[in-house]
Amino acid sequence: MSDYVIPAPEVATIPVSGGGEFPVRRVYCIGRNYAAHSIEMGDDPDRDPPFFFQKNPNNLDASGEFPYPAKSDDVHFEIEMAVALKTGGTNIPVDTALDHVYGYAPCLDMTRRDLQSAAKKKGRPWEIGKAFERSGPIGPLQTVEEVGHPDQGRVELLVNGEVRQEGDLNQMIWKVPEMISYLSDYFELAPGDVIMSGTPAGVGPIVKGDTMVVNIAGINSLTVKVT
Ligand code: MN
Repeated sequence: MSDYVIPAPEVATIPVSGGGEFPVRRVYCIGRNYAAHSIEMGDDPDRDPPFFFQKNPNNLDASGEFPYPAKSDDVHFEIEMAVALKTGGTNIPVDTALDHVYGYAPCLDMTRRDLQSAAKKKGRPWEIGKAFERSGPIGPLQTVEEVGHPDQGRVELLVNGEVRQEGDLNQMIWKVPEMISYLSDYFELAPGDVIMSGTPAGVGPIVKGDTMVVNIAGINSLTVKVT
């Protein structure tokens, strides 16, 4: 018997390819991690330290549907690879960082770009543009045993069959082990943490009825219908 005074919130999960559910503790998203996307967003793509924002665990959604959210007329796709951690810690060295990875999944960092842009102009936080309901469509996780550690190969987002974003995993400014290590210097990482690893160039809007397909070399594809 628990002592909860209201019904306990459900634990957010991501399905695992082959069975089971991965429980999600936190979701960290890296900003501008591909040089060409950094340029299109008006930044200098150098090796400035990475920056992160967060989505909520229950923003992740494996339903294959993305309901167009309220309060925006300019919702953008951002194709990303999600990295799920099975262990954590602090001050994790780069050279052992991959030991903490459970698996990888295709995902989307859906963004209310108009609200994010307004927040940026005023130096305000990004949650209103980034951390809304079902803003993180995600496919089933595949384990490291199954797919290894994908670090090169084509990344592409199709909308209604047309390529809209493309890049290569090897174009990440901050590589997966570096992201894990960097985050662990600032936060205590733990099992269930998920890192969304940034998006290549070509972000753009979707409308109701569109179908988005996420293709990332080495892992399964994800198809998401905008409803
Ligand atoms: Mn993003």
